[in-house]
Order: sequence, then structure tokens, then C-alpha cells
Amino acid sequence: MAALDAAAALEELQRGNARFAAGAVEHPAQGVDRRAQLAGGQQPFAAVLSCADSRVPPELVFDRGLGELFVVRTAGQVLSPPVLGSLQYGVAHLGVPLLVVLGHSACGAVQATCDAVAAGAGPSGTAIDSLVDAIRPAAERAAAAGLDAAVRANVEDVVADLGGDELLAAAAAAGRLRIVGAVYDLATGEVTFR
Ligand SMILES: [Zn+2]
Repeated sequence: MAALDAAAALEELQRGNARFAAGAVEHPAQGVDRRAQLAGGQQPFAAVLSCADSRVPPELVFDRGLGELFVVRTAGQVLSPPVLGSLQYGVAHLGVPLLVVLGHSACGAVQATCDAVAAGAGPSGTAIDSLVDAIRPAAERAAAAGLDAAVRANVEDVVADLGGDELLAAAAAAGRLRIVGAVYDLATGEVTFR
């Protein structure tokens, strides 16, 4: 696929998700030819930071193939230095024009954080605390409005944090990058861009 701008990249994702949601997938760019073509290099058209949830694999929900999406996944699609560094690499070195933060309905990481906030629970002493700490501001702000609201608030927070990153902000200001939030519905298969 030739280099796309952010608008064209977003359209490709929307078209692919419409196919996936309708059960009309094409599984593009997954053959031996494509693999061979990519062995010398990659030019993905979008970066996706999504939840690690097994029901939300970006290549499947957007019906895309090899070499098309630069994907980073963590529970609750939270940021950490290696995650941010990976996304910076995708933008600065691979030239992705679009960065999608993909949350989803019934996210267990967001639910667990809302539960911890509601219970006033202290740290567990595990690395899971780092997820809860990252999601906590969204949970505190939106949990009263329900899990869906907390999921949206968490996506908004991550989009805002990425937008505040110096490298990514410079790329956006130069017109080389657009950062968008999105939420995937586990039941319908539809991604709603925000
Ligand atoms: Zn999740």
C-alpha cells in the first residue's frame, strides 16, 4: 500500500472495521507474496495502541494484514516509557500518519480500577498497580457515570497524554500526524472513532 495521509488511513480503518463488523472480512495482505514483499522493510499506515484484551486484536477488528498496522498493546492501553517510545518510533522512523488509541467496552482493566477506586483499595504490591495508577484519574472522574464512561475517559486521557508528548506534538503541528481515540464494542464488533 502506498503512503497514506491521516484521513486516508482513517478511512482504511473504518472500511476494514465495517467489513469485520458485518462478517465480510477480506483478510488482505496476508499471503506469501505480501510476506516476501515486506521482508526488506515496513511502511505501516497507522499505529494502534490498544488493550491487551484477547477480544480486541487490531489487525482483526480492522481487517488488515502484514505490514499495515504498528501495534502496541497493554491492558487498558496505558502508557509507559517503553510504550511511548515504541509509538514515537512508529511516528519518527516509520512515518505513520495516524495514531489510534483503541479502548473497548467492558474493559477489565478499567473495571478493576473503578472497583479499586470505589473500594478505596490500596496497592496490591504487584505490577498490576501500575495499570490501576494509570487509569485511576479517568476512573475517579467518570466511574459514577458507569463503565462505558470510564472507558471513554481513559481513552481521552491517553490521547491527551500522547498529544502532550514533545515529539508527537511536533509531528502533529507539522501536519505529519493525527492522534484519535476510538472505542471498540465487543458485542457488535464496531469501532466508534471519537
Ligand atoms: Zn481492556
